[in-house]
Amino acid sequence: MNKCDSEVLASILVEHGYVHTEDIDSADVVLLNTCSVRDTAERKVIGKLGRLKHLKQDRPDMILGVCGCMAQSWGDQLSDKFPHVDIVLGTSRLPELPRLIKRCRELGSAVVDISETPSEDEFLNKSRESSVTAWINIMHGCNNFCSYCIVPYVRGRERSRSSSSILREVKSLAEAGYKEVTLLGQNVNSYGLGSDESLDFAGLLALIDREAEGIERIRFTTSHPKDVSPRLMDALANLPKVCKHFHLPAQAGSNNVLARMNRGYTREYYMDLAQKLRERVPDISITTDLITGFPGETEEDFADTLDLVRQVQFDIGFCFRYSPRRDTPAASMEDQIPEDVKLRRLHELLKVQDEISMAKNEALIGTRHEVLVEGCNPRDESQITGRTSTNKIVFFPGHAGLIGQLVTIAITDTGNWSLRGEQCELEGTRIEHTASLL
Ligand code: SAM
Ligand code: SF4
Repeated sequence: MNKCDSEVLASILVEHGYVHTEDIDSADVVLLNTCSVRDTAERKVIGKLGRLKHLKQDRPDMILGVCGCMAQSWGDQLSDKFPHVDIVLGTSRLPELPRLIKRCRELGSAVVDISETPSEDEFLNKSRESSVTAWINIMHGCNNFCSYCIVPYVRGRERSRSSSSILREVKSLAEAGYKEVTLLGQNVNSYGLGSDESLDFAGLLALIDREAEGIERIRFTTSHPKDVSPRLMDALANLPKVCKHFHLPAQAGSNNVLARMNRGYTREYYMDLAQKLRERVPDISITTDLITGFPGETEEDFADTLDLVRQVQFDIGFCFRYSPRRDTPAASMEDQIPEDVKLRRLHELLKVQDEISMAKNEALIGTRHEVLVEGCNPRDESQITGRTSTNKIVFFPGHAGLIGQLVTIAITDTGNWSLRGEQCELEGTRIEHTASLL
């Protein structure tokens, strides 16, 4: 989502006559787009702001802006603490950027806009990094208030974009040659709820699948387990363009912890859901997010998380140690867990998950998959890279002319995070998303 917002910010500036540069010393405007989800992300920004102080001293005309969740959460405190910051721009106000730059130049002092009222301009991203695959925001904000999470406080309440506007953007991407779209939201499967929109998320997938000629693949992230409907499972099973990958954050495997996280489901519900998904879509990959050391997590609770991971057999698990976030209920819960315990549990969890990821990837050796080629391997010119429908990254010998094409790849080798393969003769043919033995 942050990468998508960064592209939108770049696109807004390009529309106003700016040109993108990789050379920070020649930039008239430098923006830091920030994340607040964990403390490490905020500390990175603070370190970077410290380093940028010298640049601002050397070139006082350069505008330094901070955007995103940290800007929203810190507001004026950010420009007070770092007087060399010129612009603080909140998450609902991205299209205001050119106006803020103008005002900052006129006033000669810092300007802050963290209003929660969404900016009226709707802005279509025209400055994307990839020419093959594109992110599309379908909704903003979150209503779930998981007790550890800062997102509802920095991105506001859930607001769904209209399906007609989303479809217009997808069609324009198809016309520009894009082959894949990823629909973004904090909880995409509650799309449409509480709005005038008549379609639910399954209906939106069906609309794009049917109407967006030229788009070969539709992905989405993230889904909340409590809102996965039978209609969504039908969509995954039946719509040919919808990829066979489901990112389904579990967060924990203990019912005690899940309740205190305010997640709204139990481990039994989650495991049943994962099983149903596999029954409906047998070759689906399921990935997850997990947190260790949530306040009050006992060794038994943590053992339940390890057990859930072993039982569900995730393709990938993104594991984090709990980071207390300002204003969230969990930050003031009793029984905060010492950092060394959080870290020990994190390493244990990563070890178990890595073994599972490795075993799942090794089982793919000798199978073939349809891969959408996204680009060259930056570390090896003779190699190109793309993804399977199940969202596995594959590297294989090839040339830049294949970028944007669907090719059939036989998997020959594997690591935890990526696969290696070779192109089969039947270049560009569809194999209906299933992995078949060679
Ligand atoms: N909306 C998505 C969902 O419900 O799962 C995810 C949003 S959050 C930006 C991405 C992941 O960060 C979460 O799934 C969670 O595992 C992790 N996360 C959020 N708050 C955290 C915290 N305070 N400490 C550690 N990890 C956190
Ligand atoms: Fe955060 Fe929970 Fe909302 Fe995800 S669903 S963004 S974890 S509050």
